[in-house]
Amino acid sequence: MKFDVLTLFPEMFQGFLSSSIMKRAIERKKVSVSVVDIREYSTDKHRTVDDAPYGGGGGMVLKPEPLFHAVEDITRGDTESPHVVMMSPQGEPLTQKKVESLARHPRLVLMCGHYEGFDERIREHLVDEEVSVGDYVLTGGELPAMVVMDSVIRLIPGVLGNESSAVQDSFATGLLEYPHYTRPAEFRGWTVPDVLLSGNHAQIDRWRRRESLKRTAARRPDLLEFAELTDEDRNYLLDLKKKQGQTEG
Ligand code: SAM
Repeated sequence: MKFDVLTLFPEMFQGFLSSSIMKRAIERKKVSVSVVDIREYSTDKHRTVDDAPYGGGGGMVLKPEPLFHAVEDITRGDTESPHVVMMSPQGEPLTQKKVESLARHPRLVLMCGHYEGFDERIREHLVDEEVSVGDYVLTGGELPAMVVMDSVIRLIPGVLGNESSAVQDSFATGLLEYPHYTRPAEFRGWTVPDVLLSGNHAQIDRWRRRESLKRTAARRPDLLEFAELTDEDRNYLLDLKKKQGQTEG
């Protein structure tokens, strides 16, 4: 898989791409990332990339020419067009489902805005979709682009040391993940649940599933509406509700 990131601040990606799992994924050639400075594609000697908005008002708007030139240049000669994603607070919210659908594209071009954002013609004629990392506004699209890359790259087979960790993660199953414990078995009098020390894997799986359901019901009940639930899951949730009703009553 290949990423091209179009940004005015390429230096922001250095630490991200040279650390931890991202670094390893690049070294192992699971993914390639090219960080492109939008200024390289400005059309004047002052390297201008933005201008005042038509109609007045504050802030600066990213001009169309540099972004169109950049995408045309990096894809020249390609037989397939890449999927172009604009980082935007007005975009579709990034969920695990959205991450999975982005991961199906062999090449993603991520566009990072700044200032007031992009000239509308970029949105209309160059971009395939807009993605938001949440209902808040950041100063630029660089952090959102890193969030997209991190969440997508960790799904590429062979990137995570332990493949099962991505499969079990929160949201991957439609539920929040169960709690984790590691050594020591007792810390300041707080003990690890006995079942996890039992070695009985069927019981451990059952406990984890129930903890996952309990946690999701308590923190994100909205997820239960779309999660794939067995009859046993539903019965457990009903019991849980009854018990809660009894303690509240
Ligand atoms: N004026 C724009 C608006 O109200 O929609 C906000 C522009 S914001 C200050 C500058 C850039 O940061 C955006 O073009 C986008 O690339 C990025 N950005 C800010 N918040 C974001 C979010 N929640 N998700 C994705 N990108 C975001």
